[in-house]
Amino acid sequence: MEKRVNEVQIECVKGDIANQTDMSTVVNAANAALKSGGGVAGALHRAAGPELAEAGKPMAPIQPGQAVITQAFALPNDYVIHCLGPVYGVDKPESSLLRQCYQNAIRLAEENKIKNIAFPSISTGAFGYPLEEAAKIAVEEVVKQTKHLRSLEKIRFVLFSEKDEEIFKKTFSRIIS
Ligand code: ADP
Repeated sequence: MEKRVNEVQIECVKGDIANQTDMSTVVNAANAALKSGGGVAGALHRAAGPELAEAGKPMAPIQPGQAVITQAFALPNDYVIHCLGPVYGVDKPESSLLRQCYQNAIRLAEENKIKNIAFPSISTGAFGYPLEEAAKIAVEEVVKQTKHLRSLEKIRFVLFSEKDEEIFKKTFSRIIS
């Protein structure tokens, strides 16, 4: 599914964030230590190689809502933007912290003159954020940011399961009719 909003293409696809060969930048649903782990962080660190964790070391630990940028090493991308999402029920207020992840990632992308970026669904795995609530925040914030973009031309949500993809697509259709 794809739509143009304020001249920016927004897409929802099912896939693996570690295999976005046509995107310059991928977003990591990182942990505070910027190390490998499960889910998205595990997939990206495995594909990038040990240099990714080395590159994160001087910036760690990061705070919920924060985003930092590194090179992408053996990944098929130029950059990784690492966002620490809120742990649902723990880091509060979780909705604004999740919003900040998308805002800060997009701000970093713009500062680095990045043309396209792929996001996973931040916080909805190990961090327990209910997918429907998280999808609404993610899509709303990305759509809002399209008004201010100079560099980004394409923003992709990469969902890992069919069900997650379905929920993102429905949310997207509701927000952009
Ligand atoms: P968090 O710790 O922020 O919750 P996770 O990596 O545990 O991050 O999960 C975030 C979301 O990403 C979940 O919905 C999960 O299903 C999904 N996910 C897991 N692995 C991948 C992958 N390789 N590519 C894209 N999405 C993934």
